[in-house]
Amino acid sequence: MPLIVQKYGGTSVGSAERIKNVAKRIVETQREGCHVVAVISAMAGVTDNLIKLSREMSADPDKRELDVLLATGEQAATALTSMAVNSLGVKAISISGAEAGILTDRFHTKARIANISPKQIQELLEEDYVVIVAGFQGQTAEGETTTLGRGGSDLTAIALAGALNADACQIFTDVDGVFTCDPRIVGGAKKIDEIAYDELLEMTGAGAKVMQSRSVEFAKKFGVEFEVRSSFKPARGTLTKEETANMEDVVVRGISLDRNQAKVTIDDVSDVPGVAGRIFSTIAEAGIIVDMIVQSVGKHDTTDISFTIHENDLDSAKKLLMPVIEEVKAAGLVTKGGVAKLSVVGIGMRSHSGVAARLFDCLGKAGINIQLISTSEIKIAVVVDERDAERAAQLTHQEFGLAALAPTSAATRPLGS
Ligand code: ADP
Ligand code: ASP
Ligand code: MG
Repeated sequence: MPLIVQKYGGTSVGSAERIKNVAKRIVETQREGCHVVAVISAMAGVTDNLIKLSREMSADPDKRELDVLLATGEQAATALTSMAVNSLGVKAISISGAEAGILTDRFHTKARIANISPKQIQELLEEDYVVIVAGFQGQTAEGETTTLGRGGSDLTAIALAGALNADACQIFTDVDGVFTCDPRIVGGAKKIDEIAYDELLEMTGAGAKVMQSRSVEFAKKFGVEFEVRSSFKPARGTLTKEETANMEDVVVRGISLDRNQAKVTIDDVSDVPGVAGRIFSTIAEAGIIVDMIVQSVGKHDTTDISFTIHENDLDSAKKLLMPVIEEVKAAGLVTKGGVAKLSVVGIGMRSHSGVAARLFDCLGKAGINIQLISTSEIKIAVVVDERDAERAAQLTHQEFGLAALAPTSAATRPLGS
């Protein structure tokens, strides 16, 4: 009997009615003759609320305790889903991430999966249970509860689909699939039928939160094909796999926006070996993620180094860097919050020239200033003022001809909510 791993996100299980709807879909899949493992997220808003509550206890809550707390969101939703499936006359059982055999390292709140041994799931499937697994969580070798980073239920589903050698992995969410841009930002964004792992990886890494970036990385590494589709509609969604038809012909597949970024510039740094290492190791030790890094061509034995970080990390970065600025004899530190990163992604860029010129020209004509530029083989990213971000995404979307011919109805909850 074929095995299907399904994942239902927070909005899809956001109310009692929606959980019942999810239960119906699970039962339909089972009645079509499949074994079903369903990975469930916490109900919409629950994880955010738990984080908020924890901050009321402490400005910097203990990460072990935070994981114990956050894991309860998924556990509640799985128990409710299991009850709903049972009440439709189908045998279902809910299990935690630990019971699903997800073993992780000890990095609380962003643990990485070290090993998966889904023996219990396999036994339950043999007994004809629908197995409902709490997403987003695992357990260390010592038996401590861990979580897999925000959006981590995607990773649970993909990792289980890989470990169980499932025949299909379906990620059910509140949009019809992966779109050419977040449909809540660009109304005319179009659903993509097929996308390559590399393209989705660049899009999610650049801020498209439709999938957790780490889960796409895992899928690529282990060759787990998956479909992103709507939990509210029957239509097919977006298939993600290694190669898509004519993938080199599509120059730009999609556009992503990463908001709440900050730009840091260190002026007149000595142009000698070891300085960049000193600066970035200081930031890395504090666990701050650095994104675009640009170093200007050296002049008079000095150079400028700029990079972006999340706006929330700006104060810590400033504090950490002040002593280093003196040490490396830089002229100063200039920071700017309220910027956003716009990324244009497509495998076709490898074989087509002129994409950068078109992007810069389009933004220039609209009077949108580009503050930083970085490129990879299949991505061009620019930093712009947050106030220009949405307009920049809409114009770029138009420039590269990504808009649907007819407006696509993308989301069930109102756009912008
Ligand atoms: P879930 O709770 O199901 O995991 P998420 O909220 O994490 O859902 O992800 C779905 C959301 O991702 C959509 O509501 C949409 O606003 C956003 N999104 C961002 N970029 C894209 C994109 N390129 N295509 C589709 N959705 C996107
Ligand atoms: N509930 C977790 C979060 O909100 C995990 C998930 O939804 O995938 O990040
Ligand atoms: Mg998600």
